[in-house]
Amino acid sequence: MHRAIKRVAIVGAGMGGLAAAIALHRKGFDVKVYEQSPDLGAFGAGLGVTPNAVKVFAALGLREKLHDVSVEPGGLIWRDSNDGAVTKFVSLDRAVERFGAQYYNSWRGDVHNLLSSALPAANIEAGRRCEGVEEGGDSIGVRFADGGTAEADVVIGCDGIRSVVRRALFGGPAARYSGHMCWRTLVPAERLPAGFHDMNTNNWTGPDGFLLTYFVRQGKFINIIAVRPQETWEEESWSVPSTREEMLAGFPRMGEKAQVLMNNAEQVFKWGQFTGAPAAQWTNGRATLLGDAAHAMLATFGQGAGSSFEDAFALAEWISANRDDYSTALNGYEAARKPRTARLQEMSRTEVRFKQQRTLPQRLRREWTYLTRFGKTTPKVYQWIFGFDPVTNWRAAAM
Ligand SMILES: Cc1cc2nc3c(=O)[nH]c(=O)nc-3n(C[C@H](O)[C@H](O)[C@H](O)COP(=O)(O)OP(=O)(O)OC[C@H]3O[C@@H](n4cnc5c(N)ncnc54)[C@H](O)[C@@H]3O)c2cc1C
Repeated sequence: MHRAIKRVAIVGAGMGGLAAAIALHRKGFDVKVYEQSPDLGAFGAGLGVTPNAVKVFAALGLREKLHDVSVEPGGLIWRDSNDGAVTKFVSLDRAVERFGAQYYNSWRGDVHNLLSSALPAANIEAGRRCEGVEEGGDSIGVRFADGGTAEADVVIGCDGIRSVVRRALFGGPAARYSGHMCWRTLVPAERLPAGFHDMNTNNWTGPDGFLLTYFVRQGKFINIIAVRPQETWEEESWSVPSTREEMLAGFPRMGEKAQVLMNNAEQVFKWGQFTGAPAAQWTNGRATLLGDAAHAMLATFGQGAGSSFEDAFALAEWISANRDDYSTALNGYEAARKPRTARLQEMSRTEVRFKQQRTLPQRLRREWTYLTRFGKTTPKVYQWIFGFDPVTNWRAAAM
């Protein structure tokens, strides 16, 4: 019998790390979150918080706050960027009835703020970059770049796609460049005529790549994520500045409406999209991984954040139910979460090939691929992703 788990060290105050900290704090654990950035300032662009993830917000008592800063889209729509013709539509009407919760389009900065303010300030230490973890006897230590250390009963590596914790536990990178380059920006809605953009999440597909556009921040801004294949990308960061001109130059053959949207962009950032192979192992002794550190995935189904919220809830439950046995807690969590996250990674990689769905043969090829590989056609795929309830199914997910 080990000493009961009391102190939990979380490395990374991103989406998954903060959600796990809130869930564990509410269960009475002594939680400390260590974040490398010197402040917890709000970064990022749009983030879809899909119904499966919204169920975690509801369980943590944060759904209404999320609702207040977000927009509920009417559906997911695919358009030919040349003429705007609709090639596919997934309705989000009656999302609560069909999937068990709302679907929100949010700004990552708003979500980050609402999560960090749900924790006492003393539980988060900013400016503390983890450089390694070392287990010794009845505890585990976190080593920081500032020369300091911290001791805990378990460590959760929530430090994203370049996870230091993952490298310390298992070696090797968490993710590799996917071959897709992205630009992200926000357009103030007031710059465009009323009704210029509809209330759906729009996928504009064209020969250069695709644009994802939707309202965020209570409808005050339109989020743009512009994605195109590109062979090389040296740097991974969420804050590499770009320009409107560079973004436009990447999509010369996009249709007129998509060009107008890009032309009205304010600050533009660029980043390479990274994805990973499912990690063979997440848990080693008193440490485990969560979110992108464990299973980085492409954003095609918007499940990078979604799956990290699911992980966070499940891990808090596993730790709480096995306070006297860290090995059962961490290994049980890993076994419960791995099959679903591996499948989400694979689906997200598959989907990137099928953004273009202009012709009937293209659409049929996609349906055939999903049916033979995952046993599901489009409606069942969305039902499986969005309809999942991580709150009642934290012990395991049906496939
Ligand atoms: C600044 C930023 C902006 C983003 N913007 C978007 C966006 O606009 N849209 C979108 O879909 N996704 C965005 N993402 C990614 C998205 O948040 C994640 O893919 C997803 O939410 C999974 O969450 P996560 O908790 O695993 O990782 P993340 O949310 O990426 O959080 C990881 C956290 O760990 C911290 N960290 C990393 N290394 C260390 C270390 N060694 N020591 C201490 N802390 C460390 C990072 O600073 C970060 O706060 C962004 C990520 C970041 C870091």
